[in-house]
Amino acid sequence: MEDALGKLKVLGEGAQFEVASSSTTGRRKIPLAPAAALCSAREPGQTGPSTRLLRVLQTNKCDRGCTYCPLRRQNDNVERSTFKPDELASLFLQFDSRRMVDGLFLSSGSDGSPDAAMQEVLKTAAILREKFRYTGYIHLKILPGSSYEMVEEAARLANRVSLNLETPSAERLDEVSGEKSFFRDIVMRMEWIEKLRRERGWLPAGQSTQLVVGVGQETDREILKTSSWLYRDLLLNRVYYGAFSPASGTPLEGQAATPARRQQRLYQSDWLLSEYGFGFDELPFKADGGLPLGIDPKVAWALGQPARFPVEVNRAEPEELLRVPGIGPLSARRIVALRREFPFKTLESLKKTGAVVSRARDFISLNGRYFGAPAELLRKAGEKVLLDRPGSRKGGNTSGLRQLTLPFEWPSDTILPPRQTTSLADLAFD
Ligand code: SF4
Repeated sequence: MEDALGKLKVLGEGAQFEVASSSTTGRRKIPLAPAAALCSAREPGQTGPSTRLLRVLQTNKCDRGCTYCPLRRQNDNVERSTFKPDELASLFLQFDSRRMVDGLFLSSGSDGSPDAAMQEVLKTAAILREKFRYTGYIHLKILPGSSYEMVEEAARLANRVSLNLETPSAERLDEVSGEKSFFRDIVMRMEWIEKLRRERGWLPAGQSTQLVVGVGQETDREILKTSSWLYRDLLLNRVYYGAFSPASGTPLEGQAATPARRQQRLYQSDWLLSEYGFGFDELPFKADGGLPLGIDPKVAWALGQPARFPVEVNRAEPEELLRVPGIGPLSARRIVALRREFPFKTLESLKKTGAVVSRARDFISLNGRYFGAPAELLRKAGEKVLLDRPGSRKGGNTSGLRQLTLPFEWPSDTILPPRQTTSLADLAFD
C-alpha cells in the first residue's frame, strides 16, 4: 500500500491537467490520498454533492514531445512512475470500499505506442469490471492514434471516454504537437466513439474532450467555433477548457499563463451553446476574436439586444426566459410551473426560483413593472460592448455579427471513418 501511495502521489500529480468537469476543484480531499489525485467534479445543472473522482495516470512515461506538456519525453525533471493494472485496480477499490471516491478517471502517457499504453489502461478497467464486478463510474482517456479495437474495448468498459483535442484546429495542433494528426488520430476516433455509443448503447455518460486555452495564438472565436461543431455534429457531451499554465522543462516554460478569467468566459459561452440554445454567431466576440473578459457573455449579448428586453416574466415563452441573464434552465422551469397560480410581482418572489435577480432585473418586468437601471444607462453599456464587435457601428443595429466560416477543412487525403448521418466530410461545405 505504501509503495502504491507513493506512485499515486506522482501519477495523481501527473493527471492534474486532465479536466473532468467544468468546475473541477481540489478542495475536498481523500484521506490518505494526495490532493492532486482527487478531483471533485460538477456539471452545469447538477444538483446535490459533486462527484469525487480518483484522477490518476496509468503511467507518466511518454514517447511524445508536446511542447506544453511536462510529461514530454525530453523533460528529465519529472520523476517517472507506472502502475501495474492489478496494483491500480486494488488501490482504487480500497478507496471505493471506504466510500472515499465516487469513481475513477484514468488517463495515461503514451509509453511505447498508443496501443501499448491503452492496453494497460484497459487491463485496469477490465480487472475492476470483470474480476471485481465494479459497477460504478469509470472515465477512460483514449490516446490519440489508438486502434479501433482499443477504442471499442474502452467504450465497452467505461461510462465515459474522452480524447483530448488540445487545440481548435489542425494548424494549431501542428504548432504545439507535430506528432499527432488532428483529423486522423483524434477526430476520426471521436467519430468511432459516437458510432459505438449510438449503435451499441454503450457509454451512458457519452464522450468529452479537452482544449488547452492560450497555448498558442488561437482566439476564443476559433475555440468556440470548434466546440459548437463538436456539439452539433459529433454529439459530444462536454467540451472542457484548461487554462494554459507553463511547466518547467518545456519549451513554453517562459510563456505567460492564461488568465483564469478567460477560461471562465469560455465556459460561460460554452453553456450558452450547449444548455441555453444560443447559436455560435450570437456569441459576443470582439473584433479581435476574443470574448470581453470583464463581462458575462450572456449579459454582453443581452445589452446588445435592447429590442428584446425587458421580458415579461409572467407571460414569456420558456425560450425567452432562458435568454434573460440570471435565469437558467432550472429557474426558468420553476417560473413556468409557478406563475399561473402565483404570478411574480416582486424581485424577492422571483429570487426563490433560484434566479439571480441582481443580474436579471435590468432585463425583465413583473406584471408590467420594471425594476432595473434607466434605459439610457443600458443603451450606453450596450454600445460600449458593441463597439468592439465585428460589423457593428456605434448605436447601429446589432445584426451585423459577421457570418463565420468553419475553422478548418477536411484534408483530401484523409481516409474517412465509417459513414454516419452527419459526416465530417460535409463540414467543409457547411
Ligand atoms: S501525448 Fe499527452 S502525455 Fe505525452 S507529451 Fe503529449 S500531452 Fe503529454
